[in-house]
Amino acid sequence: MLTINEIFHSIQGESTYAGAPCVFVRLTACDLRCSWCDTPYAFTGGRKRTVDEVMDEVTAFGCPLVEITGGEPLLQDDTYPLMAALRDRGLTVLVETGGHISVEQVPAGVVKIVDVKCPASGESARNHWRNLDLLGPADQVKFVIQDRTDYEFARGVVARHQLAGRCAAVLFSPVHGVLAPPDLAAWMLDDRLPVRLQLQVHKYIWGAHARGV
Ligand code: SF4
Repeated sequence: MLTINEIFHSIQGESTYAGAPCVFVRLTACDLRCSWCDTPYAFTGGRKRTVDEVMDEVTAFGCPLVEITGGEPLLQDDTYPLMAALRDRGLTVLVETGGHISVEQVPAGVVKIVDVKCPASGESARNHWRNLDLLGPADQVKFVIQDRTDYEFARGVVARHQLAGRCAAVLFSPVHGVLAPPDLAAWMLDDRLPVRLQLQVHKYIWGAHARGV
């Protein structure tokens, strides 16, 4: 059984899949409290659904791309069979995780998008660093960056773990409405960093506080 906060068909706003139509499965609950979290409504509530019920709802959209997100999707045991079933149905499956839970059990073929929490999140002590050793060539790492201190932290992690050559993309995402994208862009260019600036496309389409779109 899964506790589902919402399922909806929208435009992927993040990662290298940004801009593509995508079905989102948002699971309820998270054991982190990032200072800039933009989905606190997913901490509670939701409806109990079986894996089969979620499968039926997702496949009814007729969309080849699905993202499992939250909240923290890896807190729920049935997330794993759900990802495997969606993959086996031929969909491209992304899972977005906060990075504090091991991704070791994520089924093969599922694209892992793993956060590394920077200091301003208030949760950087929770990073499960071994996850960075488990990245495959299709996986992606995301740093949400609020200020220069976060940027320097992220830059150091990218260098120490040689992330650029080991995964599909390293994403630097400014906290929306807090860090101006031109500032982050300038820092990246000055340092010749092999990373991507990521803007949350869905917030430019529908606004920063829209839900279920
Ligand atoms: S891990 Fe994600 S859902 Fe959890 S508090 Fe942080 S941003 Fe919010």
